[in-house]
Amino acid sequence: MTITIEKSDRLKALPPYLFKEIDRKKSEARKKGVDIIDLGVGDPDMPTPTHIIEALNKAAWDPANHRYPSYSGMGAFNEAVARWYQKRFQVALSPETEVVTLIGSKEGIANIPLALINPGDIGLATSPGYPVYNTGIQFAGGQTWFMDLLKSNQFLPDLSVIPDSVAAKAKLMFINYPNNPTSAVATLEFFKDVVRFAEKHNIIVCHDAAYSEMAFDGYRPPSFLETDGAKAVGVEFHSLSKTYNMTGWRLGFAVGRAEVIQALGQIKSNIDSGAFQAVQFAGIAALDGDQACVENMNREYTLRRNILVDGLREIGLSVEKPRATFYVWIEIPKGYSSTSFASHLLTRAGIVATPGNGFGAPGEGYVRMALTVGTERMKEAVARMKSTGF
Ligand SMILES: *Cc1c(COP(=O)(O)O)cnc(C)c1O
Repeated sequence: MTITIEKSDRLKALPPYLFKEIDRKKSEARKKGVDIIDLGVGDPDMPTPTHIIEALNKAAWDPANHRYPSYSGMGAFNEAVARWYQKRFQVALSPETEVVTLIGSKEGIANIPLALINPGDIGLATSPGYPVYNTGIQFAGGQTWFMDLLKSNQFLPDLSVIPDSVAAKAKLMFINYPNNPTSAVATLEFFKDVVRFAEKHNIIVCHDAAYSEMAFDGYRPPSFLETDGAKAVGVEFHSLSKTYNMTGWRLGFAVGRAEVIQALGQIKSNIDSGAFQAVQFAGIAALDGDQACVENMNREYTLRRNILVDGLREIGLSVEKPRATFYVWIEIPKGYSSTSFASHLLTRAGIVATPGNGFGAPGEGYVRMALTVGTERMKEAVARMKSTGF
């Protein structure tokens, strides 16, 4: 005897997974023994800094940390977040009411629509964009209205094209700067416009700042919460993943408007039991500790970026030098689609790049490369592309 398994409507309604083809080609090439240079995945290749690992080690031996953590975060971690915010952005936060600890920021981003959206409501999300904005809204029964990120507007959403009827039904807006996948950065003027728009239409802004510390050439990305009025209309998501090479540790946080933080915490209290306390102690060591480790990483990314961007330009591709994030957003040469260009790079040069349309329709015409291999491998990647040609 067996039973039939039918997936839920919410799973059936998910958009098609557009990286299937490239995943298949990647594993095919691996099987054939091709020496692949993988610039596809946004996962740092460098190790977590030593002082953070040591803090985990110490905390892991304390039996007090073996018990259920609080779903909303340890007081000591939330206080470290508030200290870091004050120092980094000159924004004051109450650790008790304006900070919630997350099991990676993806967890909070996926869960926040459950706290704010009713079936039929609209969520606004940037496109191309991090796929979790859309799936989070859909899982909550909402509809996503995509705000296109176009080169002609520096990859910032044009708020003036959002119809009033859409704005009226919108409960929240996801934005993300420095941006994945376009590597665009926000101006303070843009953040001001977002605050005004949110006030006018009563929309909660959810700013994903996962890349706030990954920036180059002296550029320091601002927090959305630095903008006048921002804390009254929104929250900001941060992650230790990219900043401290901690993607596997699962630690992030959301800060901002207290009622929103409280509502997200209420969802979490029904779904999870918080981040492992030893990991939170490691997070305190990261946030309170010497930030030289971050500067060193950014110096390394700068070298890699220069090799890749200079190389691509020599080949004749049109590409901006990103001021932040470890992504390079590349306009593909004439005669290709995003998918066919990514296939060409993989089969002819053994290089994995991510087709831009996988992040949303306006990403067609681009591929994304991540700066996740060392300088020698990056030089090799450029050499291979030069000899392959397009
Ligand atoms: C990597 C990433 C995150 C999620 O990071 P976590 O590991 O879940 O903290 C969130 N947003 C964007 C845009 C990312 O690229």
